[in-house]
Amino acid sequence: MCGRDWSSDVCSSDLTMKISDNHVVTINYTLKDNDDNILDKSDDGSFCYLHGASNIIPGLEGALAGKSSGDEISVSIAPEEGYGIRDEARIQDVPRNAFPPDQAIEPGMQFHAEGPEGQAVMVTIATVGDDTVTVDGNHPLAGVTLNFDVIIADVREASAEELEHGHVHGPHGHHHD
Ligand code: ZN
Repeated sequence: MCGRDWSSDVCSSDLTMKISDNHVVTINYTLKDNDDNILDKSDDGSFCYLHGASNIIPGLEGALAGKSSGDEISVSIAPEEGYGIRDEARIQDVPRNAFPPDQAIEPGMQFHAEGPEGQAVMVTIATVGDDTVTVDGNHPLAGVTLNFDVIIADVREASAEELEHGHVHGPHGHHHD
């Protein structure tokens, strides 16, 4: 199971353990938009997160609080509690020559760029003209209502090291050298 170390942790499994802060939660989920298109899916027990550490969107974290292993929930999350509303100011035209000349530029491609305050932002190529490329700095799921069907597969207490790092360790979590 996600992030679990069976050799030293065999006694910590508790089917009635409720999801709250400082717990590692494994979920299987299907994410659809309002038109029933599947946007994302994980059904092999490989998705886990540290509850209370803003590892996942607020709307989903809130809906999972208090649930236990085996519980199933369906929740519809407004953009404000998901990836935010779309901000048209984040759509910008940049000169084609801002990209390396040998770099193919096609709609849908994503690049790391520098935001107004020097922070790293991911931008998606919206349209490509002869001289101008339109880039969109909104998250691809900004403005989208997110409909999750979730089965809670496992709940365990986080380790002290996981709490210190703010993320899950183990087979499907972060690996450190
Ligand atoms: Zn770590």
